[in-house]
Amino acid sequence: MRDITKPAPEGNRLGWEDVGGLIDVRNAIKEIIELPSKFPNIFAKCPLRLRSNVLLYGPPGCGKTHVVGAAASAASLRFISIKGPELLNKYIGASEQAVRDIFSKAAAAAPCLLFFDEFDSIAPKRGHDNTGVTDRVVNQFLTELDGVEALTGVFVFAATSRPDLLDAALLRPGRLDRLLFCDFPSLQDRLDILTVLSRKLPLEGGVDLAALAYMTDGFSGADLQALLSDAELAAIQELLDSTDTGNLGKSPVITNDLLKYVASQARPSVSETEKR
Ligand code: ATP
Repeated sequence: MRDITKPAPEGNRLGWEDVGGLIDVRNAIKEIIELPSKFPNIFAKCPLRLRSNVLLYGPPGCGKTHVVGAAASAASLRFISIKGPELLNKYIGASEQAVRDIFSKAAAAAPCLLFFDEFDSIAPKRGHDNTGVTDRVVNQFLTELDGVEALTGVFVFAATSRPDLLDAALLRPGRLDRLLFCDFPSLQDRLDILTVLSRKLPLEGGVDLAALAYMTDGFSGADLQALLSDAELAAIQELLDSTDTGNLGKSPVITNDLLKYVASQARPSVSETEKR
């Protein structure tokens, strides 16, 4: 059976510099992860349990998974990332055991960040599943989360775009009790995200990313990423279409006009009606 808890490959390492916007979310995560390791003596004297298990929620493509990956590598934590549906499919009939194994593995890998993506698929409200599988998985999660306090150096994070589907017991104090909202990016956040995502792209000097941010109201971070990929592809296509064979030795350049054209054709993936 393939090991779904493998850490992300080295080449995919992100850092805080790869995240645009989401200032409050970033600050909250830094406070949760970085402060206890920077000031262990102060935190050791703190008698109250800190709320360090996090649920990130918000619309699709708004950076939940991205920010967690960046947080783990910025803090040099081992990163164990599990996609909810993958856990159910890979361990048919043994999902509770899989949950137990994942938490043991996280304890052995500490300091580490254990991340459950698409959490609603494995932790929905109990009492609605005829097979009883997800009910047993949720019960196992409750047991493990109650024991996580004893696992020093394990941060448990989960993400969902449908927090309304989750079993409420998982969100009680002591469990996933720190809720962080990743919303659609504001104008300033879109400019920040476009700046971050276009750092390595062959942009023409003086490209107006602020105008692009203005044109992309309602776009998620993933939509902005898709827009820049489309612009890059269009620049390559433009070069290939050129009849001047001398151009083939040149590198593609994303011009301001090209960006504006691609943006004028693009639509946000979540419509205004779906947002309501
Ligand atoms: P889903 O709910 O569908 O899982 P998500 O909120 O987890 O979505 P991500 O997978 O984190 O969204 O985002 C998809 C891609 O969009 C990222 O890989 C990244 O390229 C880009 N992206 C999204 N938000 C940001 C951001 N704030 N800064 C930089 N890139 C972003």
